[in-house]
Amino acid sequence: MIRTRFAPSPSGYLHLGHAESAAQAFGFARENQGECLLRIEDIDTTRCKPEFETAIYENLQWLGFHWPTPVRRQSDHFADYISVLTRLRDMGLVYRCFKTRKEILEDIARAPHNHDNIYMGPKHILSAKQEGTLLASNQPYAWRLSLQACRSFLGERYQTLSFMNNGETIKANPDTLGDVILARKDVGTSYHLACTHDDALQNITHIIRGVDLLGSTHIHRLLQEIMGWPVPEYHHHPLLTDENGKRYAKRDKALTLKTLRAQGVSPGNVLAHKINWKKHES
Ligand code: GLU
Repeated sequence: MIRTRFAPSPSGYLHLGHAESAAQAFGFARENQGECLLRIEDIDTTRCKPEFETAIYENLQWLGFHWPTPVRRQSDHFADYISVLTRLRDMGLVYRCFKTRKEILEDIARAPHNHDNIYMGPKHILSAKQEGTLLASNQPYAWRLSLQACRSFLGERYQTLSFMNNGETIKANPDTLGDVILARKDVGTSYHLACTHDDALQNITHIIRGVDLLGSTHIHRLLQEIMGWPVPEYHHHPLLTDENGKRYAKRDKALTLKTLRAQGVSPGNVLAHKINWKKHES
């Protein structure tokens, strides 16, 4: 059976762009006699708030969407993500990175032929002694995925990774993201790790989301290969823009579903994008 999901983060109120993504995911499931799950991606416990989560349920119900319960809330499952990280550690595919943001940017600037602001990993791996000293002094760190280690681990398979996007086969190129952070010392996971794990756990067959996440899919595909997880089909839809082609973001407060609803806009008009942009612009 076809199974999609809509996976918002309760770090703000849903806006028009979310309504579009939800409509695409729930619509795809409905057209294919499948189901669409709702997943709450709230690993960032400082930015995510219960009132935003409550508003997600209310807004989506108002738009007429239904989903199976119970809903998976990622903050209830940190232990699952830590066990994935432990497996990656055991395979030698992640390393502790103690560098500050500033130091990472300096490393990027120093690297030759690197025009894309990508961190390709340290020049020298920290010795056990250096790492021990940093840990003993309680330095914060992040766990980064080592692309070099992944390349040796997968051998030729690294070069031939691909995924289906909007009906076409795309070559996955994790190098375009570099050594991404898979967990922070304090949080224990990241979007990449939690999302890819949950898509596998929840048997998601089709992932429908905005094109802003297409870049991340290259890393997700790599994680799937390493962990032996199934590979869903992807559909990345264009982001909604206003009459001037400007993209919506959470900062456009007036275009939250909560506000539009309070102003009397109907769910049908929201889904059909029949909004008077000028009137609702902040
Ligand atoms: N939680 C992510 C977001 O709100 C979306 C995750 C996904 O669809 O993969 O941007």
